[in-house]
Amino acid sequence: MDKIAYCGHHCTYCFYPECPGCRSDNPFCSYATLFSDRKCPNVTCCLERGLDGCYECAELAACEIGFYSTDEQVAKATALFIQQYGKACYQTTLERAIQNGANYPHAFNALGDVGLMLALLERYR
Ligand code: SF4
Ligand code: SF4
Repeated sequence: MDKIAYCGHHCTYCFYPECPGCRSDNPFCSYATLFSDRKCPNVTCCLERGLDGCYECAELAACEIGFYSTDEQVAKATALFIQQYGKACYQTTLERAIQNGANYPHAFNALGDVGLMLALLERYR
């Protein structure tokens, strides 16, 4: 199963390993569980638009739907990275970043700016 989430997060490195991923048959992302129907707005929006993920959306950069309205802006940065370089490059780049000591996702979120987060990931491309 594809571990790259609709929002751009990478489920392999999630702090919540009990969740099998938001593309699984039994997803329980901690963010999605905040909603009464347990459905993540980003997943719902992607499915309604027929998109593989938010990285395929022309409105991504300015989007504030669901997870993009939280402090976890690393998801927006990684989705923008995928939009520019593709999922395979994201996979290898994130692996390289973590192998080189980048504390994903915390060190990215701590930057507080999507552009800076994107630039940090691009350093390992
Ligand atoms: S916030 Fe939504 S899209 Fe992102 S990992 Fe969680 S369920 Fe998936
Ligand atoms: S509008 Fe926002 S939540 Fe919906 S697919 Fe586009 S980027 Fe994702």
